Amino acid sequence: MKPVKICSLALLNNLELQDMSNKIGFGSFCVHELDENRTTQPHQLPIYATSSFRFHSIDQGIDIFTGKEEGHKYSRYGNPTVDTVAQKIAMLETYGLDVEAMGLLVSSGMSAISTLFMACLKAGDKVLTQGNLYGGTTEFLVKILQPFGVEIIMTDLQNLEEVEAILKREKAIKMVYFETPANPTMACVDIEELTKIAKRYDKLTAVDNTFCTPYLQQPFKYGVDFIIHSTTKFLNGHGNSIAGIIIGTDLSFMQEKVWAAMKLIGSTSSPFNAWLLNNGLKTLELRMDRHSANAMAIAEFLEKSTKVERVNYNGLPSHPDHAVAKKQMRAFGGMLSFELKDGLEAGIDFMNKIKFCTLAPTLGDVDTLILHPASMSHVNLPKEMRLKNGITDGLIRLSVGIENVTDLINDLGQAME
Ligand SMILES: *Cc1c(COP(=O)(O)O)cnc(C)c1O
Repeated sequence: MKPVKICSLALLNNLELQDMSNKIGFGSFCVHELDENRTTQPHQLPIYATSSFRFHSIDQGIDIFTGKEEGHKYSRYGNPTVDTVAQKIAMLETYGLDVEAMGLLVSSGMSAISTLFMACLKAGDKVLTQGNLYGGTTEFLVKILQPFGVEIIMTDLQNLEEVEAILKREKAIKMVYFETPANPTMACVDIEELTKIAKRYDKLTAVDNTFCTPYLQQPFKYGVDFIIHSTTKFLNGHGNSIAGIIIGTDLSFMQEKVWAAMKLIGSTSSPFNAWLLNNGLKTLELRMDRHSANAMAIAEFLEKSTKVERVNYNGLPSHPDHAVAKKQMRAFGGMLSFELKDGLEAGIDFMNKIKFCTLAPTLGDVDTLILHPASMSHVNLPKEMRLKNGITDGLIRLSVGIENVTDLINDLGQAME
C-alpha cells in the first residue's frame, strides 16, 4: 500500500516517525496524531478536546511537572480553551481597577462554590452568610459542608451592627459569604460596608456575582477577596452550557490553594462548555444593557397594574435597597419578581396563560424566563422559611430577556386578565 500523502505542513510528530511513515502499519498510522496543520492564529478560540498534552522530551516533561517551565499537561489541571476563558472573565472582573486577579473555570456554579469553600476552610472554621442565598448554596453549606465540621451562621447581612456583633463574638468565623442582589426579592447587601467590617476582623470575603456579571458590578472595587459566578447564567447568556468560575486577587493563594483544590476535587470545566461560554461573552455588554432596559420597563408596567400587589426590582425607587443597588451597580439587571394580589391560585392561573415567556428553571438567557418559586424552585422548602425570605404563594420570578419589550409587556398583560 502506498503511504498517505501528508500535507507538507502537517509533519508527523517526530521525524523518525515520518521516515517510518511508509514502513509502519496502516493501523499504527491511524492511531498517531500529526502535528497541528496550522500556519496562522485562528480567528476564534479553538476547542482543545484533549485530555493531555505531549512533551517533546523527558526534560520538558520534568520541567513542566516541577513548575520550572509553564505548560499544559493534563486537562483536569488546565486546558488552553478553558484557561483562556477563565482569564478573560478575571480580566473583566478587574477591568479598570488597579488589581490583578486569577480565574479558574470549573464545571458549574455549584462547583465554583464548593471548590472555593473546600480550598479556604477546615473543620472547626465557621462561615457567616445570609439566609436568602441561592438554594443550592444553602443546601451545600448545610448538607455537605456542615457535616465536615464547618459551622454555618446565617444572619441578615444588611444589618451591619448585627454582623459586627457576630464577628466580634465568633472568633472561628473564617469567611463572610454573600450574594447581591439575592434571589428572588432582589435584596442587596452593601458590598463596601460589609467588606470593611469583615476586613476589620480579618475575615475572608466571597461574593456570588452571578446576577450582575462584571459589567454591572465589580466587587473587587471594594476589596472583596473572591468572586464566584454561575457562568451558566448571564455570562453565557444563551442557556447552552453549565460552568462556573472562581476569581481571586491573592494570586499565590489562588494558585496554591484554590487551583490545587480544583485539580484534586476534579471540578475543572470542559473545553466545550468553556467555548460556548466564550461565544456568549462577546455580547455581554449589549445583552446586559438590553436586559436592564427591558426589566426596568416591565417593572414600571407591573407597578402600575391593579392586579399586582408588589414589584421587587431594585431599579424602582420603591425598592427598599434601591440606594445600595444604585451605589454599586451600573444598571439594575434583568432579574425581578412580583406578587399577584390573589395568591397561589392567581399565580398558577397567570402561569398557565403565559404564551410568550418560557417556563424554565434557569435565568440569564436571551429569552424571557418565568418561574413560580412556590410551586417550582422552592417547593421543597418549609413554608415558613420560604415566607421569611419573601417567597410568598403568589410570587412570580422573571428573568427578563432581550426581546422587543412590547411583546413581553403584552404577554404579561394578557396573562393577568
Ligand atoms: C444558578 C446559580 C448558581 C449555581 O450555578 P450552576 O451553574 O447551576 O451550578 C449559583 N448562584 C446563583 C446566584 C445562581 O443563579
